[in-house]
Amino acid sequence: MTQRESTPPKLRVATVSLAGCFGCHMSLLDIDERLFTLAQRVEFDRSPLTDIKNLGDCDIGLIEGGLCNSENVEVLRNFRARCKILVAVGACAINGGLPAQRNALDIGQILVDVYHARPGLAAGSAVPNDPELPLPLARVHPIHEVVRVDHFLPGCPPSADAIWALLSALTEGRMPPNDPSLIRFD
Ligand code: SF4
Repeated sequence: MTQRESTPPKLRVATVSLAGCFGCHMSLLDIDERLFTLAQRVEFDRSPLTDIKNLGDCDIGLIEGGLCNSENVEVLRNFRARCKILVAVGACAINGGLPAQRNALDIGQILVDVYHARPGLAAGSAVPNDPELPLPLARVHPIHEVVRVDHFLPGCPPSADAIWALLSALTEGRMPPNDPSLIRFD
């Protein structure tokens, strides 16, 4: 029997930004040189980092952003179906964040005000109604209102250290730490 240790198989990770600003993805890249360690442990599936469009079976799904339209809901449900572990990354995924500021307003009235009634619009301007456009939801929802979420990583964005603490734990088969000193809201 060989003494050489076998290399564990890489975990497959997918990431997505729903109603988010990509700030949480930028914070992931801020783990800097730890990216080399991460690259030895995981391979990326669908993600803005790979530009892969179709989600495959994954070990970990990282969700940035809440749900503001029907496409967000469809993508999130697909992530839940394909990912063994689902993580809500950042305030928008956890509580709706900044996009949820619109929840106090009527979405139908907003669309009419912006696309139809606003001064300066060209004659005949109307609310866009192309079937390819996802329908906006009446309210912005956090992702746990639609699917089961396994871990929550607060912050806006979560710090690079918090993201690394979570990813290093999950890739080592440990529970992510609950360390308030890593949480920040810039
Ligand atoms: Fe952007 Fe903050 Fe929302 Fe992350 S939590 S998507 S950084 S607004």
